Amino acid sequence: MTYTEDEYLQLSGIQHFSFCRRQWALIHLEQQWAENLRTVEGDILHERAHDECFSEKRGNVLTVRGLRVHSPYLGVSGSCDVVEFTADESGVPLVGREGRWRPYPVEYKHGASKQTDADRLQLCCQAMCLEEMLCCEIPEGALFYGETRRRERVELSCELRDEVRAMLTEMHDYQKRGYTPKVKTGAHCRACSLSELCLPKLCKNPSAEAYIKAALETETL
Ligand code: SF4
Repeated sequence: MTYTEDEYLQLSGIQHFSFCRRQWALIHLEQQWAENLRTVEGDILHERAHDECFSEKRGNVLTVRGLRVHSPYLGVSGSCDVVEFTADESGVPLVGREGRWRPYPVEYKHGASKQTDADRLQLCCQAMCLEEMLCCEIPEGALFYGETRRRERVELSCELRDEVRAMLTEMHDYQKRGYTPKVKTGAHCRACSLSELCLPKLCKNPSAEAYIKAALETETL
């Protein structure tokens, strides 16, 4: 099965979905957005990484920034911060370049390495798109963290790929139904840029009537 372009999901949404399904739906299905310090820092770092249409060759490495990728099988499109193509006989041909090249995606992130797989899932999804577009295998990529200025190697394992596929299937289902799921709130909500819009109290409380009553009472204080 393949998806049509109008069904494509935004690739970067997989990190939101991994963090919180509700946050993803608020951003990508309801088009709500709130900026906080974390998102602004992230945007600045991404602007530097996404010097659109930029490519440079140093030695045997061709670095391409902001490369657009998509996958009809996954139903997703987006862009890679950086893809490093290393000259390699076992690599793939590139339009306008001589020789063969082995692709290696690198995703830039603000902050430091996280406990969760959110960043690894996004990187893996980028690699899966590149594999489909270039007819190749990409066993590894890297995450670069702005806070630590360190590069972390990521093995693009079968488990990580299965998780990407499962998440995208679930996201497509929500998108088709236009459904914003309710989820358990928790400590992670404090770092969420949508906490005000999400109304986490409503998520905790099964009774919308009780929430509205409490909100009206607060207003009259
Ligand atoms: S406030 Fe919590 S439940 Fe609501 S979108 Fe953010 S992380 Fe998810």
